Amino acid sequence: MFRIMNISRLRIKIDGEGVRTLIITEGCSLRCRYCFNKDTWDGIKHGRKMTASQLYDEISLDRPYFMATRGGVTFGGGEPLLYADQINEFRTLCRNEFSVFAETSLYVSKPAVLTAASCIDHFIVDIKSADPAVYKAYTGGELAVAIDNLKLLISEIGSEKIEVRVPIIPGMTTDVDQQSSVSILKKLGITRFDLFTYSC
Ligand code: SF4
Repeated sequence: MFRIMNISRLRIKIDGEGVRTLIITEGCSLRCRYCFNKDTWDGIKHGRKMTASQLYDEISLDRPYFMATRGGVTFGGGEPLLYADQINEFRTLCRNEFSVFAETSLYVSKPAVLTAASCIDHFIVDIKSADPAVYKAYTGGELAVAIDNLKLLISEIGSEKIEVRVPIIPGMTTDVDQQSSVSILKKLGITRFDLFTYSC
């Protein structure tokens, strides 16, 4: 069962290619200092439970737009890979009618990464920083978890389907730190980056 905080329709080239629907799932293991979606942290308090089939029926309204623009659905959150099994079910229902993307921190279990690798077309990975101390201070988590899962994901699907976000975090990292993280990630095989500055 999904726990869905919100479904945002008809987004154009924001969360990937074409016209997309962003599905914001609930729950996250991290606690980022400038999290833009803290409401998702509290579980079912704010959202609604949906099966993969119910979700597919609801988003199907926009299927013609997806198909005309090479768009589709993007799972975000919170941490959408907490629902990897449900996304897999959803993917079985929609087959290859449209693309399925995910915005993830990869701060999940290895089985969740493997399931996601088998059913998601493109990953936007929010790594934040490749410096363990910064990662810990900013997210509360251990960088090694995210990096190990990134390596696993690369080994499963290659790096072409993975874009990594590395922000400048005001008060915590500079453009020099950002480039240092990029260098570390390039050595893992990452070639596609989204570099920007958080506005806090
Ligand atoms: S990983 Fe995303 S949802 Fe989770 S705390 Fe960080 S910014 Fe918020």
